[in-house]
Amino acid sequence: MDKKKKPAHTCAPETMMMGYGYNPWWSEGSVKPPLFLTSTFLFQSAEEGEDHFKVAYGQKKSSKPAGLIYSRVNNPELEILENRLAAWENAEDAAVFSSGMAAISTMSLAMCKPGDQVIFGIPVYGGTSYLFENILPEFGIECIPVESGENFVESVLELKKQKKLQNLKMIYFETPANPTIIMTDIEKVVTKLKKRLSTKKREVIIAVDNTFMGPVFQKVLPHGADFSVYSATKFLGGHSDLIAGAVLGRKDLMDMVKGYRTILGSMATPFVSWMLMRSLETLKVRMEQQARNAEVMAKWLCEQPEVNYVLHPSLDNTREAQKEICQKQCCGNGSLISFEVKGGKRRAFDILNNVEHCKLAVSLGGTETLIEHPRTMTHSDVSPALQDRAGITPGMIRISLGLENVDDIIHDLDQAMKKARKIVADKKAARAAKKKKK
Ligand SMILES: *Cc1c(COP(=O)(O)O)cnc(C)c1O
Repeated sequence: MDKKKKPAHTCAPETMMMGYGYNPWWSEGSVKPPLFLTSTFLFQSAEEGEDHFKVAYGQKKSSKPAGLIYSRVNNPELEILENRLAAWENAEDAAVFSSGMAAISTMSLAMCKPGDQVIFGIPVYGGTSYLFENILPEFGIECIPVESGENFVESVLELKKQKKLQNLKMIYFETPANPTIIMTDIEKVVTKLKKRLSTKKREVIIAVDNTFMGPVFQKVLPHGADFSVYSATKFLGGHSDLIAGAVLGRKDLMDMVKGYRTILGSMATPFVSWMLMRSLETLKVRMEQQARNAEVMAKWLCEQPEVNYVLHPSLDNTREAQKEICQKQCCGNGSLISFEVKGGKRRAFDILNNVEHCKLAVSLGGTETLIEHPRTMTHSDVSPALQDRAGITPGMIRISLGLENVDDIIHDLDQAMKKARKIVADKKAARAAKKKKK
């Protein structure tokens, strides 16, 4: 499947998802790409086998991708899917992985060597935080947390001034960040940090986790980032029925990432890749409707007496500097909302224990509304010190809006909050009664 079918004119990505990179006449006229469940591929001759390996392992230059060899190295499903994913951000190349964490760890290991330094924005997803706080340091890679947001660049430059960044190799952040929805200006990071901190011998790599908004509401590569990283488990998959990840970027860097993927064995399977292709056909309509639902929900949450604050870029209370970043690099507000309730963890748990339609489960970006408690769930493997610095408070609840009628979801949260209120009132009454007895 090496020949990309060039469209007659440049189509929008949502149009390309219906056929790009696949010719039905390769497979009996099948409109959808068949599922190639094979581990290995036949060579026409020993010479052809030798040639495929040389191209795949970079020993021979070729303008075409390597011929099919073995499904850890390449597979038709992976190749069509990667061509389609790349189209969303106009990327030179894309690679799909067995999970978001497989994508992040493979990319990090391909870029960073012992002695190198990494700056990572906080907060980041719990697993990513664990990788930077605990695993990469075991390989001699120093990982330094810096608060994401409008002051990120200044904070990094301050470290530079203190001569603490002699070996900086990678800057990794999420925008918006999970779970505080805080945004960082990608273009500013590129012009103020990448350009200034790279040397002839050491190019500083900018890797942005684009899981929350991308690729429909935010494209990070056009702003100058080197890598756009995804947990494809989330919006790209979109139905909470698969685990996968993706990295998009420049061809020379992607060759290194794909080389590591081949050896670490962290690629996606053909079946998951096929499912992702199906999901990409509906990506735009799903994300747009979910974002509309989130806007209604965010407004409603603001009016609830037990809610301290609501985080969603559509809200008027969003800081001006944050709004500016959102307007500059996003064309939508996404469908993730975090909010803090009065009464901390206990009240948050009382609400979560009483939802009926919302699913009390981690993950996000699925067709169903998912609700969870970041501090004890998705971000429990972030050290408490970093949780506090990043603003992941005990009373914080994160909600990912699905495709239900949003009125039903509001009704559900309303009844859960009412039940939680009653639990508080009942406890208060019980305490008062006990006191009276004494
Ligand atoms: C879920 C998530 C990840 C990890 O992805 P997996 O597919 O679960 O391995 C990474 N980054 C963000 C922002 C996520 O939400």
